[in-house]
Order: sequence, then C-alpha cells, then structure tokens
Amino acid sequence: MRPSRATIDLDALRHNYRHARALGGGRALAVVKADAYGHGAVACARALAGEADGFGVACIEEALELREAGIRAPILLLEGFFDGEELALIERHDLWTVVASPWQVEALERHRASRPWQVWLKLDSGMHRLGLSPDDYLDAWRRLAALPWVERMVAMSHFSRADELAHASTPGQLATFDAALAALPADTPASIANSAALMAWPDTRRDWVRPGLMLYGTHMLDAPRKEADALRAVMTLESKVIAVRELAAGEPIGYAGTFITTRPTRVGVVAAGYADGYPQYATSGTPVRIDGQPGELIGRVSMDMLTIDLTDHPQAGLGSRVELWGPGLSVSEVAARSGNSPYRLLTGLKRVPRRYVGG
Ligand SMILES: *Cc1c(COP(=O)(O)O)cnc(C)c1O
Repeated sequence: MRPSRATIDLDALRHNYRHARALGGGRALAVVKADAYGHGAVACARALAGEADGFGVACIEEALELREAGIRAPILLLEGFFDGEELALIERHDLWTVVASPWQVEALERHRASRPWQVWLKLDSGMHRLGLSPDDYLDAWRRLAALPWVERMVAMSHFSRADELAHASTPGQLATFDAALAALPADTPASIANSAALMAWPDTRRDWVRPGLMLYGTHMLDAPRKEADALRAVMTLESKVIAVRELAAGEPIGYAGTFITTRPTRVGVVAAGYADGYPQYATSGTPVRIDGQPGELIGRVSMDMLTIDLTDHPQAGLGSRVELWGPGLSVSEVAARSGNSPYRLLTGLKRVPRRYVGG
C-alpha cells in the first residue's frame, strides 16, 4: 500500500479546545467547517462532544452531516442561510444561524416558527465581507428581537487581521463592535474572537469565542505569544522514501529542473505530492523530517512524489519515514515556504487516508 497517510490526534484536538476555552473564559464554539479544516468534521465533533459548547460550520450541508452523525450540541451556521427555503431545515434540525444581510432579516420576519430560535446578528466592523453596516445594525436587531420566537440573540463580528500583532485594525474593529453593543441591552451576549484574536488580543474575549485554526494546533500570529506555545499539532502528514539515487554535482532534479545539485547528492523520492495536498510550489529548502531528523525538500513537487536531500542523512534510505508536517514541523512553516497559509494546506488534504488516534 502507498505509505502516505494523515494521522489525526484527537487527544491533541481536545487539549487545544480546552486551552482555547480556558483562555476565552466563557463559552467556545469549536469551528469545524470545511470538514474540520481537513481533519474530518464528524470524527472531530465526536471527539469534542460532551465538552464543546457548540460547533461552527459554514453551511447547512455541513450542519446536517453532523446531525446525521448524532451530534446534538448547538451548531451555528457561520455563513447563515442562502435562501428562505433553508429556514424549515434550520428549524427541524434545531440549528443556530448567523444573520448578516437585510434580506435575511426580511426572510425571518416572514417565517412562522414553531420553536425558539437563537440568531447571531453579524456586524461588519471593518472587514467589509459579511455583516450589516453599523448604520443598519440596530434597526435589524430591533426587528429580529421583536419576533416572539427569537428567544436569544448574540451580537457577533469577525476580524480581518487579528494575526498581525502590531496592526491597528483589530482595536479599531473592536471599538466599532463595542459602539454597536452599547446600543443593545446590557445582557446581550457578544462574540468576536477567532483563534488569532483569542490568543493575541485579550480584550476581544467575550461571552463566546470562535476558535478554528488553533484547535488543529497551529497559528499564523506574526510575533511569538505564549498562548500559542501550548498548542499541539493535530495532523501529521507523512510518507516514506520509496527510491534513492546518487547524483553527481550539476544534475537537475524533477520537473523544470528547478533544482541543480551543487555537490554529489543522495536523493530520496517520497510518495507524496500535490495531489495529496502538499503545496506544488513549495521551494527547495522547505523543511521535512527524515526519521525524526530535520531535512529539506529539493526540486519541484510532482503530483504523486517529491524529492528530498539525503546526503547528510547517511543512515536514512529506502523505507525511511518522512514527516511533511506535524508535531515535529509546523504546517504554518511549510505553508510559508510556498506563499500559502496553514488554512489552505490543511483544508487541501486529499487522497491520503486519514487515521485517528486518541479517540
Ligand atoms: C472560520 C471562522 C472562524 C474561525 O477562524 P480561525 O481563524 O480559524 O480561528 C471564526 N468565526 C467565523 C465567522 C469564521 O468564519
């Protein structure tokens, strides 16, 4: 069997969730959208069932997958609903929804509910993607609050640059959020922090935090924070050396000859490529771990294979284990070597079987 695989450590996931929840000091919505950032939404939600205060997904399809798997905890639709016909499903499956546009407010006003609803009303505090503008927010709030079946409303917003620790955008967005909150009833629950804000901007921790990336054990903070040091990598992407060859100096390796040997070089061929989700344009020098030791990628990544430098690893050879990211090598560091983000690499995992440990 092809030796490439992704191992998902559910103990690490639970550890990271507990860390996030403790930092937040209130309730924590475990964000498991996009198949739990490539880790498997059902398996991750089951591992957190019983302790997660709720789950965040992008859309109703993702929510129904969790409900069908027996997840009974609250589930919030982070992107809201896409048409009025979804409201019956939201009602039947007891979901919470974000409301972020005037047409959604109108759709809810036309809805006849038969159970209490929880609605998260989203403010555009400066990201300028989803959310009601500050001018429209209070009116939308009052209209939804007037619906007798809307039992609880949470004020929410989302940051665009919380991983940039010296940037003024996050305090600016927070001030806009707080100004909107000031017009709402004093006991209104609030939620604005994603992983980066939760770890790096303590003022953003409110009734609910919404950690995503940090649950999977990594971050993109642009300066060190002790809050991030406690995270444990959840996914290990690994494979094995399936061929070894000795090249003289001056020989090209792989497609397009992007790497030319500068010394007699022992090359290991690893069974993992961009069709597995490894970044195609990771540059030569991108770190890997060879039997636990630090090593380097050389040459262009192919669809099914990549090449590593074994010259300084005389003990390594056929069958050596190669970690492409995981506890020994941060997926964020690998991502940075190809102009990618850890979000993209984790959600881009394909073809490799996922194995779960710590279930
Ligand atoms: C994805 C998402 C999150 C989680 O973001 P991370 O940066 O992964 O922590 C939080 N809130 C909303 C609205 C999201 O869409």
